[in-house]
Amino acid sequence: MPNIVFCGSPLDRASRLRRDAHALAEARADRSSRYLVLAELKPLIRLGETPQIRWLSPAEIHSWLPDDGIDSNAAVFLGLHDGIAHFALAVAPDKNLEGDGNRKFIDVRSIAPELSVAEAAILALARSLIDWHARHGFCPACGGKTAAIDGGFARRCESCLSVHFPRTDPVVIMLILHRGRLLLGRQPGFAPGVYSALAGFIEPGESIEEAVRREAQEEAGVTIGSVRYLASQPWPFPSSLMIGCEALALTDAIKLDRSELEDARWFTREDAAAMLEASTDRNAPLRLPPPLSLAHQLAKLWLASG
Ligand SMILES: [Zn+2]
Repeated sequence: MPNIVFCGSPLDRASRLRRDAHALAEARADRSSRYLVLAELKPLIRLGETPQIRWLSPAEIHSWLPDDGIDSNAAVFLGLHDGIAHFALAVAPDKNLEGDGNRKFIDVRSIAPELSVAEAAILALARSLIDWHARHGFCPACGGKTAAIDGGFARRCESCLSVHFPRTDPVVIMLILHRGRLLLGRQPGFAPGVYSALAGFIEPGESIEEAVRREAQEEAGVTIGSVRYLASQPWPFPSSLMIGCEALALTDAIKLDRSELEDARWFTREDAAAMLEASTDRNAPLRLPPPLSLAHQLAKLWLASG
């Protein structure tokens, strides 16, 4: 299987504990518990040859919090590892970092490829949940204030009591194939030279296969026959699930939707292999996205299968 960043968390999510307020309160204060702090969604990282998450103890996080102490619901319960509870907490930026060159808040997209598989996966969960809390302070049903419950895996409205859950937004991303060639496209915002697999959000009332066929038709005018699931990736910007598929095209004439793509082309295996090789070379005339992306891993899978 490909090496998919943001998969492979070692944490037991221990969902049974989320509703046990007493056990969670004890875990929050337990000296062995570990806190991941994020400022403006950037995790605190210990710098060095091998960067790592800078986990903090309950005693250490006190200096990061307002004087009135820990809001008992503010820390999101990420799960257990070797019996040790792990939490994530949003903090104010720049606090406590003056004169400390060994740690820094770094954005998840740039640090994830440097971290272990396990720590990158923990960041995916933490970033998505912390972002969701920051944007869901009010009830979509009545406009009342909401508060975190269940260890941060839900919010309840204080007025109408309705309960709201974190979103995961499914996105299809597909290797469109036709007689040994691969269709890749360029959005106007891509870095120079980058061509990627076509992708789009699944709409309400749509299956994965239907979304693949619609996106291929809308963006490139290509008609798709069979669709096969390959692999998926959590994508915490802010909370997508990338669903990677192989889609066999019945036609190869391209009719671009210029509002979505500035170009799309068919590439041979040799082209794609060179673009995979050049994926991190900013000066390459043509390249696939870097290894962090599912498009890269799917293309690699396809090339390995031939
Ligand atoms: Zn409400």
